[in-house]
Amino acid sequence: MIQIEIGESSEKSPCADCGNRSLTVWGYVYENGNAHAVYYASWTPGHLERGAQLIVSIDGWGEGADASNRHCVAVNCLMGEDRPGYSVIDASQSLWSQEEFLGQMLSREQAFETGATGPAFEILDRIAEEDHRFSAFLLNRT
Ligand SMILES: [Zn+2]
Repeated sequence: MIQIEIGESSEKSPCADCGNRSLTVWGYVYENGNAHAVYYASWTPGHLERGAQLIVSIDGWGEGADASNRHCVAVNCLMGEDRPGYSVIDASQSLWSQEEFLGQMLSREQAFETGATGPAFEILDRIAEEDHRFSAFLLNRT
């Protein structure tokens, strides 16, 4: 049982075309009540066509957890006909590549080889459904 807890957000640099500031949001993921993962998502409001980028840092969170177990799966997200599509990218090429506290930045290959994409996609599905900030963007309401 995976649960999402909405975190804070921050605005970044304005878009050169429309002036809308890109938005980064984050949140926390619990599995059976235990801290399990942390996620970040970034997009520019009004630019659904440009998609979003997300990163999920899995394992090594919560009390007594070994932070060295943290590993990240990063994706680009584009909205499809009726649901978002995700493509795994090298986490070291993501917006959060310098955030060492998120843990090991898995390459696209590593993400699939280690099986980290399984829990990552499960979490991404929940984010799209339950993080109202991200779901509003996907529905082109921001
Ligand atoms: Zn713009």
